[in-house]
Amino acid sequence: MKNEKAIVVFSGGQDSTTCLFWAMQQFKEVEAVTFNYNQRHKLELDVAADICKELNIPHHILDMSLLNQLAPNALTRSDIDITHEEGELPSTFVDGRNLLFLSFAAVLAKQKGARHIITGVCETDFSGYPDCRDIFVKSLNVTLNLSMDYPFVIHTPLMWIDKAETWKLADELNAFEFVRNKTLTCYNGIISDGCGECPACELRKAGLDRYLEMKGASEHV
Ligand SMILES: [Zn+2]
Repeated sequence: MKNEKAIVVFSGGQDSTTCLFWAMQQFKEVEAVTFNYNQRHKLELDVAADICKELNIPHHILDMSLLNQLAPNALTRSDIDITHEEGELPSTFVDGRNLLFLSFAAVLAKQKGARHIITGVCETDFSGYPDCRDIFVKSLNVTLNLSMDYPFVIHTPLMWIDKAETWKLADELNAFEFVRNKTLTCYNGIISDGCGECPACELRKAGLDRYLEMKGASEHV
């Protein structure tokens, strides 16, 4: 894959930034695509742009504001609270989001002569999002290939690993400090370690603490 080109679906968060570093190691040429769907925090777009600039990655921002029109939700509307009731999908779920993002990323990838698409979706901490499942990604991969008669390969380097292992992967890619300090995961729009209180920060911190514990334990063997 070293001689090929890849497009990374990129939000500027921990997971997709780790994927970006993974892609830079795997492919000769890497570009990133970020979707503007009137995120609660415009900062997300700035963070994504800054990271790409720093890493010298061509960055495309595509307007997907129709998603907000179709599915108003806690990620796009500040008047909707972020909640997660037991047995229900969290209020941050947007119907069809990954389907649309990956489809538009594929159209862009083909235009750019790239057949590899990388996404940070993950089935391990997937909170029940149906379009983060491996079976969905594999199914869409077939559909995209048929729809455009093009040999896309969707890569999901985080699919089977948990948040602690995602930190480990970033570390193995020599990107631990970069990911920790420059990415935005927090629902309250605070970069790096975030507000520490929202569900996204809690998940990120729990994974980080577990990883640092694992690392500490192995260093003292
Ligand atoms: Zn937070």
